[in-house]
Amino acid sequence: MKVIKSPNQLTRLILKLKKKKKRIGFVPTMGSLHEGHLSLVRFAAKETSVVVASIFVNPTQFGPKEDFKRYPRNLVSDLKFLRREKVDFVFLPTASSIYPKRFNAFLNPGPLAKTLCGPKRPGHFRGVVTVMKRLFDITLPDIAYFGAKDYQQARIIQEMVKRLHLSIQVKTCPIVREKDGLAMSSRNVYLSLEERLQARAISRVLQFAKSFIRKVHLSPHTIEQNIISLLKPYVDKIDYVSLVDAVSLRKPKRLKGKLLLAIACFIGKTRLIDNVVIQR
Ligand code: AMP
Repeated sequence: MKVIKSPNQLTRLILKLKKKKKRIGFVPTMGSLHEGHLSLVRFAAKETSVVVASIFVNPTQFGPKEDFKRYPRNLVSDLKFLRREKVDFVFLPTASSIYPKRFNAFLNPGPLAKTLCGPKRPGHFRGVVTVMKRLFDITLPDIAYFGAKDYQQARIIQEMVKRLHLSIQVKTCPIVREKDGLAMSSRNVYLSLEERLQARAISRVLQFAKSFIRKVHLSPHTIEQNIISLLKPYVDKIDYVSLVDAVSLRKPKRLKGKLLLAIACFIGKTRLIDNVVIQR
């Protein structure tokens, strides 16, 4: 496993491998790795011949009041995990190599960023698409792997790739959960024991809602209101409970086809997100 900080050095090495017809699988992360991240690495290893993982806590996707400074960083154990998975390259860029002085190539995340987390985290998806384009330009992947936990992020990146005609396949892999259902997240370490128990409610409510939505004939709005009243006693603040079309991320006119039920809420000071896809 090669650990590389220089974008140019990584691109040179990858270009050589691409000349030899190697297929590059890319897993971008912000580190503090858990089984969710490692599942993406395993998908990449199965489907491509060279696996590149990046660890970069991207400053431009955090709002001024968000947790950029205290975001968990565990480089030593991250590298141990990635070595165990036999990743070929770990890319550890510095902020100044991703955003050189006078950087002005920010991208517009497009209409999919107007719903769900978009309005709650102004500027977040602009930072996400911008960093992904930089990382794609450096790592030149054939396939890039994302987790369904950040469903909206994966959809926005799929659209960006389409819009910019990049020849990259964007794959969305299933959410990896703790035994009690909580979606794994680097931010789960912020939870106290009591909050950790509270957090179980999110996936439980989603699971219940999944079977409920398959059966009922109610409006999306009424369903959301029902789910909000189920969730409310267990969490400290609800950012949104949204039932949307899983492709357009817009409110569905009818409960038909592939739907996404997504939740963002606070347990204490920790903002957690989770979702389920429902076929109707
Ligand atoms: P992050 O380090 O939080 O930016 O996440 C890096 C990638 O890992 C993103 O594509 C996430 O969607 C994915 N990921 C994070 N948590 C999970 C999880 N519990 N299951 C599957 N993928 C995940």
